[in-house]
Amino acid sequence: MEMIADLPLARFDTDRAAAMRADEQWLERVWHADNTRVLVLSEGNVPVTDDVSLIWVKPEAIDLDLRVVAECAVMLGVDAQHSYVALVGDRVTVDAVSWVSLRGIGAQLSARDVGLAIAAVAMNSWHGTHSYCPRCGNPTVITQAGWARHCKHDNSDHYPRTEPAMIAAVNDADDRILLGRRNEWPEGWFSTLAGFVEAGESVEACVVREVFEEAGIRVAPDSLRYLGSQPWPFPASLMLGYRATATSTDIEREEAEMAEVRWYSRDEFDSACTTEALRLPNNSTIAFHLIQHWYGKPIPLEWTRK
Ligand SMILES: [Zn+2]
Repeated sequence: MEMIADLPLARFDTDRAAAMRADEQWLERVWHADNTRVLVLSEGNVPVTDDVSLIWVKPEAIDLDLRVVAECAVMLGVDAQHSYVALVGDRVTVDAVSWVSLRGIGAQLSARDVGLAIAAVAMNSWHGTHSYCPRCGNPTVITQAGWARHCKHDNSDHYPRTEPAMIAAVNDADDRILLGRRNEWPEGWFSTLAGFVEAGESVEACVVREVFEEAGIRVAPDSLRYLGSQPWPFPASLMLGYRATATSTDIEREEAEMAEVRWYSRDEFDSACTTEALRLPNNSTIAFHLIQHWYGKPIPLEWTRK
């Protein structure tokens, strides 16, 4: 089974320039260079033009003292033309037609822009919740070109954590797909089952456990096929996508989480999508691509949530 190439938020086209993280003078050098481009975030959203292009500005357009910039700058990467820096923490703003979440528009951006912006969103979220040392409670400061925080009190360094989550397209012997609607979702919104990997658990064990917890369906552990991953930093997930085959078909949903869980044959799927009884996740999500992988041909975007 082939992996899914080019998951929307997994695309990238720049070098992360990790070597620069050891250079304490990186910001002064980059900030005064003509070819530097800056991405400013606002509440975790990115600024776009009316044709949904990401808005990059030059450092000179940012009205902030360099000492303040140093408290919120993250070196995102470089390519042959530019160096790319994010400013996190809502310290400054820029003119934009709108501020949007990558959850919705990630698939519309270029590989360069989505790769840089998804890292910016992830780091914005992490810096925003890690101002204090988890060991001693003192304030931490940003270091390593924005990729770490340091506690001067106990000399500890802290790095962003990613939370792995599995997401699985489960099929039965009749090639039906198992989809569920979470309690907080409106009528008709269905997706593949997903859940966080627990401490001390493998991703594969998580797939088997979560599918049984949410749907009461047994999955054959040796049927799992890994199809790819993409970051989902809302706030810190990494989605690991699988196909899996069920060895049982009687659904017993987890009422605390799931409003509905059901099997769809291909005919039922086509008919439910066409009549809008079923609304799929948008094409920036790995769920859309897992469902499309099962479907075996392009899924019309009209079948996705608006
Ligand atoms: Zn500390």
